[in-house]
Amino acid sequence: MKIYNTLSRNVENFKPLKEGLVTIYTCGPTVYNYVHIGNLRTFIFYDLVKRAFKLNNYKVKHVMNITDVDDKTIRKSMESHVSLKEYTELYTKYFMEDLQKLNIEMDTKFTNATDNIDEMQKIIVKLLKEGYAYEAEDGIYFNVSKFKDYGKLSGMKVNGSYSRIKNDEYDKENASDFALWKYWDENDGNVYWEGKLKKGRPGWHIECSAMSMKYLGKTIDVHCGAVDLIFPHHENEIAQSESYSKQKFVDYWLHGEHLLVNGQKMSKSLGNFYTLRDLEKQGFNPLSFRLMVIDSNYRNKLDFTFENLKKYEKLLAKIDLSVKAFNKTEKYDETEDSYSRIQTKKVVDSELQAFKEAVNNDLNTHEALQNFFALLDLADEKTKKGKVDNKEFSYLSNAISKMNEFLGVYVDYEIPKEIIDLAEEREKERKEKKFAEADLLREKINEKGYFIADLPNTFVITKRYLE
Ligand code: AMP
Ligand code: ZN
Repeated sequence: MKIYNTLSRNVENFKPLKEGLVTIYTCGPTVYNYVHIGNLRTFIFYDLVKRAFKLNNYKVKHVMNITDVDDKTIRKSMESHVSLKEYTELYTKYFMEDLQKLNIEMDTKFTNATDNIDEMQKIIVKLLKEGYAYEAEDGIYFNVSKFKDYGKLSGMKVNGSYSRIKNDEYDKENASDFALWKYWDENDGNVYWEGKLKKGRPGWHIECSAMSMKYLGKTIDVHCGAVDLIFPHHENEIAQSESYSKQKFVDYWLHGEHLLVNGQKMSKSLGNFYTLRDLEKQGFNPLSFRLMVIDSNYRNKLDFTFENLKKYEKLLAKIDLSVKAFNKTEKYDETEDSYSRIQTKKVVDSELQAFKEAVNNDLNTHEALQNFFALLDLADEKTKKGKVDNKEFSYLSNAISKMNEFLGVYVDYEIPKEIIDLAEEREKERKEKKFAEADLLREKINEKGYFIADLPNTFVITKRYLE
């Protein structure tokens, strides 16, 4: 498997620390609000990275932090007059719902920053003791000049003199000594910890170092984020972790590009953002956004428009219908290996091979999607004939499932009994040539959010998608 490593600025052959296992840490959300679909592009990217390793038969251990304490979460919870915990738990819950709607695999260890304060303090104490950190009047800072490799990830030029910065998100042009621990002041209300350090709270960067090392080990295989995290966040994570452990922190740094709106990064501060709920309110299925993300390779910027999303909603409807219709198509057994059988096997094998090669070529998901659609087209051809040989059916449907294990764009769902009953009634009317009655029933099914498609000898019901 080949993957682009930001650290070397090269596409590299992936080699894990331990055979058969990949350890992955991904920077999670700051839970002070609903995440926007720009953030969600990044979380889908993480999911694809994970699924790519699984496609290559690796076992994956994945940790994601939930940043439930920082300048923003504290300010927002105080404005809403609820405790920090209560406030962040609510947005964590919404975040999890979004991940599930996007069919993101949940075999992840999610961990709250506030549940790992001891670990953070332990690292800070050692950094202080060894002279990598120093105390100032408002907190404890990492001394960037003490880490000789500073800048190795981002290419940031360092000149030996640094100002000091308390904010977690700072100026992207200059390296600065950054806060590891921020001493309490009245803006923090009742949010503080004591223990090994003076009353205060952690900086953002130390959170990820502590959680990654605690749950996955001092050196891990893969660390992911979006490109805006390269500097200063990831650069700072490396500095403090490697100063602490005297070991390489991460072998492969993977960064996903941004989701844009009119050429600008979608962001809360610019106000040019949509949440998944905004998309749903307009009638879109969340998976159409997943499909849109997959169709654009992770290292390319992706401009979001609703016009474009409509295209993916249509493709999603096609996927749903093709798979369901193919499954329902009548099966029979050829007596021997027919030409058609041999041909189908050949096409399926070669598409599946090409699919895997695309995924393994630095996650070329755009290409992989073409192979998936090629198989669906072939399935459609069989469906139209009204009959499919059992063996051909299993070649095709196994390969489609295999691809979908990676793509995660087809999700089976239950059709309510009420809808099935209406559809069967309609079928009966149709057979009796009572077309007006049948059409009324079709409309009724539509109104209830489902769609009915007629096949040669039967029918299939799917969810209704936007036209
Ligand atoms: P935050 O909640 O701000 O910490 O962001 C969560 C993740 O979303 C981080 O990895 C960010 O880098 C990423 N992110 C923020 N804005 C965008 C965007 N417009 N497109 C893609 N990823 C983004
Ligand atoms: Zn992080």
